[in-house]
Amino acid sequence: MRPYLLLTPGPLTTSESVKQAMMSDWCTWDEDYNIGIVEVIRKELTELASSRSEEYTSVLMQGSGSFCVEATLGSVIRENDKLLVVANGAYGKRMGTISEYYHINYELMGFEETQAVNPEKVDAYLTEHPEVTHVSVVHCETTTGVLNPLKEIAQVVKKHNKTFIVDAMSSFGGVPIDMYELGIDFMISSANKCIQGVPGFGFIIARRSILEKCKGVARSLALDLYEQWDTMEKGHGKWRFTSPTHVVRAFMQAITELKEEGGIAARHVRYTENHKVLVEGMRELGFKTLLPDSEQSPVITSFYYPDSSFNFKDFYEKLKNKGFVIYPGKISQADTFRIGNIGDVYPDDFRKLVAAIKEIQAVK
Ligand SMILES: *Cc1c(COP(=O)(O)O)cnc(C)c1O
Repeated sequence: MRPYLLLTPGPLTTSESVKQAMMSDWCTWDEDYNIGIVEVIRKELTELASSRSEEYTSVLMQGSGSFCVEATLGSVIRENDKLLVVANGAYGKRMGTISEYYHINYELMGFEETQAVNPEKVDAYLTEHPEVTHVSVVHCETTTGVLNPLKEIAQVVKKHNKTFIVDAMSSFGGVPIDMYELGIDFMISSANKCIQGVPGFGFIIARRSILEKCKGVARSLALDLYEQWDTMEKGHGKWRFTSPTHVVRAFMQAITELKEEGGIAARHVRYTENHKVLVEGMRELGFKTLLPDSEQSPVITSFYYPDSSFNFKDFYEKLKNKGFVIYPGKISQADTFRIGNIGDVYPDDFRKLVAAIKEIQAVK
């Protein structure tokens, strides 16, 4: 069932049992599905995300992760509001692009892609710009793998009393986050990242008291977060439009497996070990990481090309033939490629990967 391991940060390698969970058909309006699956997932998500889950609620949304980011920005920020987008990579910039499409009043505060967001600069901006009402940031910028200092940014945002929106797409489920403790109001992720489901929908975990007041704010029908939530809430797990039933069932299995593994803390330990085995092995082979260790997430790692004659396409094909699919780089300032550490993959897989890379390098 596995022609190769996906060492890409979503879609990623899933377990056989997650794939098997898709082998039956579900009726979207039957209680077996709504109450038996969707409502269970919604509750589990708030419990995984917050130590005070009763203050939070969750909404599942068809599409990929970006659909959920767009649904959130487009359904929460009003005409007279102002959004500060803090960006140090492609996904942060995408929130700026969404703001353009929706004519949201926003400011994009840009940082180098190879640098973590500096909370002091956010603090200074918010002090000078009291008209800002919302702040959004990406937790793990998958562009490079940098892990932004969420706790310090959250402290600044809360000090200024702003609504805080976090794209935790590639970190939620793999890096511990407590929305309640940090004061996060909206957190967005998707099925095919650290929870280790398959692609097809994303989800938003929201502070209930804020989402409740968002009726009529959205400028999109399909991406109206409030209406999607209201239908799910009143219909006990009913989706407004056709839901990706098989994918949702697989996701429930993935949550069960997350809990069996020991929860997010245990998964974080495994991803960290994956990352460590990878980086130590690659450094032994002479590869250098793009980021300093202090800014690096355990989610995905960027490596410089080893020399100017390095041919990524050739390297990619050879590795694929050995059973590993990796990711090209995504930044303009340097030639890099990326290797994901998340999914149903283990330290031993990374030992085998490093051995495969060693063989490829030796043949040259
Ligand atoms: C994967 C990801 C997204 C969503 O990308 P899609 O291609 O729409 O799934 C958004 N933000 C981050 C940080 C991501 O890693």
